[in-house]
Amino acid sequence: MGFVPIQLNEYVRKHLKANPGEKKGEFTRQLKDALARYQAGATCDCGEPIWVIGSSVLGDTCFTCATLEAEPSGDYEIAEACHKMARILPEPCSRKCEAPLDSDTDDRDVPF
Ligand SMILES: [Zn+2]
Repeated sequence: MGFVPIQLNEYVRKHLKANPGEKKGEFTRQLKDALARYQAGATCDCGEPIWVIGSSVLGDTCFTCATLEAEPSGDYEIAEACHKMARILPEPCSRKCEAPLDSDTDDRDVPF
């Protein structure tokens, strides 16, 4: 199992349905803030990438530290933040299997 990717707007809708008292604008802003922090490379105290949905409420935290569960099982994560999670929860490779699991270098050109 792993995260279930969900569009931000879709998650807001679900959340508001379950929590009718919440303000849509406020909640959306919090999620977008957390997503922006995630995209800027924010990490949990333990060094893992943050869980955007949890971090929107709790401050920057990864899934494990927020829930004390080893890994997500059917928990939501904003779709834009899911691809990086493959680093923690490797999926079967669709390309070359000799590619290193650490896909960090894919989107960042680090000169060595
Ligand atoms: Zn953590």
